[in-house]
Amino acid sequence: MDKILVIDDSLVQAEFLRSILQEGYEITTCQTSEDGLREAKTGLYSLILLDIVMPGMDGFMLLRELKGTELTKYVPVILITSLSDVQHEERGLLLGAVDYITKPFSPVIIRARVNTHIQLYNYQMHFKKQAMVDDLTGIANRRRYESESVAKWREAIRFGMTFSVCMFDIDKFKIYNDTFGHPAGDQVIAAVAKTVSSHFQRSTDLFARYGGEEFVAVFVGSDGKSSFEFMKNVRQAVEDLHIPHNSLVSQWVTVSVGGVTLSPKTGDDYSTYLKVADTMLYDAKRFGRNMVVWSNANHEQWREK
Ligand SMILES: [Mg+2]
Repeated sequence: MDKILVIDDSLVQAEFLRSILQEGYEITTCQTSEDGLREAKTGLYSLILLDIVMPGMDGFMLLRELKGTELTKYVPVILITSLSDVQHEERGLLLGAVDYITKPFSPVIIRARVNTHIQLYNYQMHFKKQAMVDDLTGIANRRRYESESVAKWREAIRFGMTFSVCMFDIDKFKIYNDTFGHPAGDQVIAAVAKTVSSHFQRSTDLFARYGGEEFVAVFVGSDGKSSFEFMKNVRQAVEDLHIPHNSLVSQWVTVSVGGVTLSPKTGDDYSTYLKVADTMLYDAKRFGRNMVVWSNANHEQWREK
């Protein structure tokens, strides 16, 4: 059930809105902008009904804040007020409100407008999600990786967590394509993605197709050695699919994996560490492929075999 946040300093009015909408929606009410902002940032809401005249931070100020915050900027906001003059309406719409309802209002109109905007929001979110998914594998695509990896990196800095970044590559994939054809090659990419992604199921994990037969993963909270051990299992799981290949590496389809674990600090550059992961991947290939090569901030390196 979609959730609606009602932010209104008048308890009577908030409860009236609840009574109008509670049949189809889950309603939460807040009586100050500050509480409303905190609640909105949970990211749980499909629509916000916002009163303009409130003590302290008013509805316009809160609206500006909501539209400037990544987590809340797409959530439709309908302004509710007794200020019926046109300047206020203009101001609200220019600040990014999707609609404007003046008191006293009819329950039928409120319901109709809320339904419409929630429907539009759900469509929009659906297509936004679609645009972040790789068609062939169903995992995150490069675009999602680009938009989320740096955010995860910053979060790791803020919470003082370790951060691991990891590059994968299917070994001798060109030979596979040349031998078995591109449709078969696509099936291999999908099968490898499915197996690897089953190992990255925590909400903080991000595993994405980087392009072609290349994948990238970022995850937080484990040290270099245990990340290395974890990735060895992932590499083994791919080999254990026993997809025939004549790569001279193995009789099966295999992957090479390179990565690094570190504790990022403010001022560090994410792309530097991606380059380290890439160098580790290059080493994994150089040392014979079907292998994990991993390093940490102290330039210790682990590799299989
Ligand atoms: Mg008010």
